[in-house]
Amino acid sequence: MSTLEIRDLQVSVKLPDGELKPILAGVDLTIKSGETHAIMGPNGSGKSTLAYSIAGHPKYEITGGSVTLDGQDVLALTVDERARAGLFLAMQYPVEVPGVSVANFLRTAKTAIDGEAPKLRTWAGELRGAMEKLQMDPAFAQRNVNEGFSGGEKKRHEIMQLELLKPKMAILDETDSGLDIDALQIVSEGVNRVRATGDTGFLLITHYTRILRYIKPDFVHVFVGGRIVEEGGSELGERLEAEGYKKFVNA
Ligand code: ADP
Ligand code: MG
Ligand code: MG
Repeated sequence: MSTLEIRDLQVSVKLPDGELKPILAGVDLTIKSGETHAIMGPNGSGKSTLAYSIAGHPKYEITGGSVTLDGQDVLALTVDERARAGLFLAMQYPVEVPGVSVANFLRTAKTAIDGEAPKLRTWAGELRGAMEKLQMDPAFAQRNVNEGFSGGEKKRHEIMQLELLKPKMAILDETDSGLDIDALQIVSEGVNRVRATGDTGFLLITHYTRILRYIKPDFVHVFVGGRIVEEGGSELGERLEAEGYKKFVNA
């Protein structure tokens, strides 16, 4: 059982002129393994800033509060150490990785996280199995990471990482954006498979309610103006679908 604890997190973005622009105004959130939390909010409310801050992106400066994973200070760790500690951030490797195939990339990541290389034969089987479940062409494993990937391929690659790396906590930022209905369903099934193990806690960050039709969250948090303004169960997601964010933005 793992716990990610975010306490009164305050974050500013570093502007090119060196000035700090405050974005997160004190975020409190506790996620346990096996739980699925959705953060929903309008554009520009700071959802990605929250994800990037936990990921350790250098553009964001933590000005207050804490993030711990099973008591360990996440904010004191390097990006690599965060991954080894069991944090999975889908936006962590959004860039092209020239000359590195999907297969090699995943094996390297797995080796870094486990501290030892996976046995070749079992690994090949796991990789093949993960790709089959996501209905991906086996040739995909030999392509270079993110090079010319379509939106759907990028998302499937994220879910492949999730299935193979088995993180303690997974933060998925707008995993649903840019997916057609078929891809959304396949990606959601992937998340639900990992979720069913009960070993991973999820933070799903989204602007749209539609992914919540496929992944029913245990908790929904409404995010406006850099903080959580309302919390509830999955019925809150349904309310947002009907009513939008207006009520919370004007509150
Ligand atoms: P969301 O993911 O909810 O759409 P973001 O976290 O991306 O919100 O952005 C929150 C706010 O921070 C927005 O007003 C955005 O313009 C601002 N912001 C984020 N990154 C930067 C940046 N690098 N430079 C200037 N403003 C930024
Ligand atoms: Mg946005
Ligand atoms: Mg965003």
